[in-house]
Amino acid sequence: MLARLVNSLPFGLSQQITKLYFQVLNRNQRGSHSIPEYHNYRTMDVKILPALQDNYMYLIVDKATKEAAIVDPVEPKTVLKAVEEQGVNLTTVLTTHHHWDHAGGNEELVKLHPGLQVYGGDDRIGAMTQKVEHNTKFNLGHLNIQCLFTPCHTSGHICYFITAPEEGNDSAVFTGDTLFLGGCGRFFEGTADQMYQALIKILSSLPDQTKVFCGHEYSLQNLKFASFVEPSNEDIKKKIEWSHQRRQEGKPTVPSTIREEKLYNPFMRVTEPTVMSHAKKSDPIETMKTIRLEKDNFKG
Ligand SMILES: [Zn+2]
Repeated sequence: MLARLVNSLPFGLSQQITKLYFQVLNRNQRGSHSIPEYHNYRTMDVKILPALQDNYMYLIVDKATKEAAIVDPVEPKTVLKAVEEQGVNLTTVLTTHHHWDHAGGNEELVKLHPGLQVYGGDDRIGAMTQKVEHNTKFNLGHLNIQCLFTPCHTSGHICYFITAPEEGNDSAVFTGDTLFLGGCGRFFEGTADQMYQALIKILSSLPDQTKVFCGHEYSLQNLKFASFVEPSNEDIKKKIEWSHQRRQEGKPTVPSTIREEKLYNPFMRVTEPTVMSHAKKSDPIETMKTIRLEKDNFKG
């Protein structure tokens, strides 16, 4: 509702309203929506930092050099506290898209911590120093970062695919509001064809074990819709049960993996006969369009 209203307004005004909305929400909230969690992998660490009502920021650390990047730092003070606690060298900001709840902290973070490289794919992103395109590549210490252009939720959305230097090691993708656990972002500035390209052509082709870190804790709502689309899908049932458990303990449901998303996420499964027949379509892009519309109005 708020999202639809805000997106019909001029950009500057909509950013102001969104900011106010989250500030009021935050004031009314006790503590955070989830417990921060630290995931240690072989060559990289990812610290999950909950923010606002249901957003996630991610502190990515190259273990060999202690160089760090932050994804969507909407709460700069929380970020800097984590940087200090972990004793890492923050050099990089990875911005998935221009919406305030993702990019809204960039300017303040750069003021508090000068000299950061701020990456993004949209001129509406504050404090951006490096504009990236599809397949732009750069490094964080020894880690390789590859930009994946996935327009649709917004016209400049970027996902960041991170791999270790040796093949077969860790890989992770930071998907912002394009791919969620069990769902996908609303099509604010794009089409079903673009989301099909993003999810089926680009993200589905990443290695199956790639960990998926998305922009919001929406998993239970998404999986509820998933089970409406595919009522007899056992993987959806199992993931709902697991997610309930996690949320009761106040823990994040991220990360999932690309392999898991292909098993239970209806938007990653638009080529499956079960999902197409639910949508009463014979074409995957038409199926994508139909189930997104259905999800927009889904009450559960
Ligand atoms: Zn967004």
